[in-house]
Amino acid sequence: MENGELKNNRRAATAQVPNIITALVTDYLPTSVKEMKALGWDYVDVVLFSGDAYVDHPSFGAAVIGRTLQAAGYKVAIVPQPNWQDDLRDFKKFGAPRLFFGVSAGAMDSMVNHYTAARRRRSDDAYTPNGRHGARPDYPTIVYSSILRDLFPDTPIVAGGIEASMRRMAHYDYWQNKLRPSLLMDCRADIISYGMGEKVTVELARRLEAGEKISEITDLPQTVVRINDADRWDIADGEIAILDHDIILHSFDSCLKSKQHQAENFKHIEQQSNAMHGKALWQRHGDIWIKVNPMYPPMTTEEIDASFDLPYTRQPHPRYKGKRIPAYEMIRHSVNVHRGCFGGCAFCTISAHQGKFIASRSKESVLREIKKVTEMPDFKGYISDVGGPSANMYRMGGKNLSVCEKCLRPSCLHPKPCPNLNTDHRPLLDLYHAVDAMPGVKKSFIGSGVRYDLSMHRTGDAEIDKANRMYNEELIVRHVSGRLKVAPEHTSDAVLEIMRKPPFTLYHEFSRLFDKVNSQHGLKQQLIPYFISSHPGCHEVDMAELAAETKELNLHLEQVQDFTPTPMTVATEIYYTGYHPYTGKKVFTAISPEEKLAQRKYFFWYDHAYRQDITRSLQRLHRADLLQRLFPAHASYPTRNAVRNSNNDKNNGNNRNRNYSSSTNDRRNNPPKRRK
Ligand code: SF4
Repeated sequence: MENGELKNNRRAATAQVPNIITALVTDYLPTSVKEMKALGWDYVDVVLFSGDAYVDHPSFGAAVIGRTLQAAGYKVAIVPQPNWQDDLRDFKKFGAPRLFFGVSAGAMDSMVNHYTAARRRRSDDAYTPNGRHGARPDYPTIVYSSILRDLFPDTPIVAGGIEASMRRMAHYDYWQNKLRPSLLMDCRADIISYGMGEKVTVELARRLEAGEKISEITDLPQTVVRINDADRWDIADGEIAILDHDIILHSFDSCLKSKQHQAENFKHIEQQSNAMHGKALWQRHGDIWIKVNPMYPPMTTEEIDASFDLPYTRQPHPRYKGKRIPAYEMIRHSVNVHRGCFGGCAFCTISAHQGKFIASRSKESVLREIKKVTEMPDFKGYISDVGGPSANMYRMGGKNLSVCEKCLRPSCLHPKPCPNLNTDHRPLLDLYHAVDAMPGVKKSFIGSGVRYDLSMHRTGDAEIDKANRMYNEELIVRHVSGRLKVAPEHTSDAVLEIMRKPPFTLYHEFSRLFDKVNSQHGLKQQLIPYFISSHPGCHEVDMAELAAETKELNLHLEQVQDFTPTPMTVATEIYYTGYHPYTGKKVFTAISPEEKLAQRKYFFWYDHAYRQDITRSLQRLHRADLLQRLFPAHASYPTRNAVRNSNNDKNNGNNRNRNYSSSTNDRRNNPPKRRK
């Protein structure tokens, strides 16, 4: 029942920001005792604490877990961005829930959210109303669980979300510049639920409801548990033991002493995260064993549909009174059509969280969501993204699943597309056509990253190759909003090999196709490539070659990023240990700020301010050839400000070959599009 005050709240919210907040407060999960009472509840089963604002949308983790538990019959409250510095009333207000507390840092690791690659504090937070920073502490999982443990010693605490998921084993923390134990050792939660949490959270609720103690639940898939049993495995620490159903890793103490041990561990951690039927991983931390139970098999279409079809309002909670939440603004008119990614890029965490096997929604479920988007009062007919972790992996996977069931490859695309991989883009084309035919949709764009190595790959099957050519063409003609962003990431094949990306020649091929299709259709769209500096394996001279190569392509780089080592990627492990976890060989990485700057400056070779420095560096490297390519005699070069102004003028002409663009544009400045 809606009471008068709640009705007034709704009217007030809609009045302040017309056409945005259209749902009733009682349509959301309660965030206060007053809202709980308005729903007629006297208690809650689960209280979720999140570092993010509460946006009731399938791209926001707390909403997904809350709605999933609600659909399973539980009463769930959400406390978004609790104040951890006052009298802790946010933590006390619902009292002890019947089953458990859930804590999450939010949709991003809090340290990635708070700090730049140069470890400088950011001034904004895309997951907070008005982009305000300071609404969550560093490491909220640790802070929230500690407060709750003090206040409610007997209530189970479950940690989830990206931060807990990616820090589930001993990991390198770039911001503290040291190896950290599993987050479960650092925080006072009882258990970590890692990966996408729908199945595991409901199962956990059922088992707690059935009377099991949280300490007895040690076998649940996709959980991390602590086991106090120092003598469990009698295995020497210098080796990794691979048993029938378990893998015993080097202990945390041993990894503190040996970076090689840490690198060796990581190979198994990544392989088991990507296995369809993984083994449990055990790692000793002093007298305590941390056990990581394997992931659930990928969701079926029915299961993922059920998650996306939950009754989300698709809007921020009215408590924010229509304030702008940047991460929500990015995705409010977009839909996510699948989960998982089989690209296996060395610097990316998606597969460690979502797995490499693709779970695709049905066309009907996607269209139901599109219909809801078209009914939003501010929708003008443009779907901003029909995407996913990668844009074009919808309904893809192994042709022979029994082969995939035994596969431990971290990537289905690297070093070459797997012959067992079905790369047929027809289901995705069919979906695009159905979306575009929906009443109210004028155009749909693809904002997620397109894997052109997938759509350009020649399979030898005439039908599939024809469909994939058609995909590329339709993508360029119908689904680009002026600029298509792609991620070659580097020009050096040696660096690309470590990144697990395709050779740069493929970018050339795609770029030629892009130009040809644009010219055939009278379009003047831009292809915007992303590049990374200081990635493991990248030397200064690789960056100089990148500068020369992109100069010759008439590209003045816009989307560039300095490598940030985030927990649980192979690139991070190389950065920290100096070894490649799969080969055991040493790999160079630029570590010091000076080394990193020495690489980054090449992105801006055209800036007069860097010219002398780059010239000296290339002389030191004895690369007169690169010097000549970058700065031929008698050429003159603009300052960065002049380039910026030039960009503003020329972008109006929409000419890709005149894409003079802005300076360092850390990708993080564009808020992440969706939960990963
Ligand atoms: S067998 Fe091939 S398609 Fe299947 S998971 Fe392994 S790499 Fe991917």
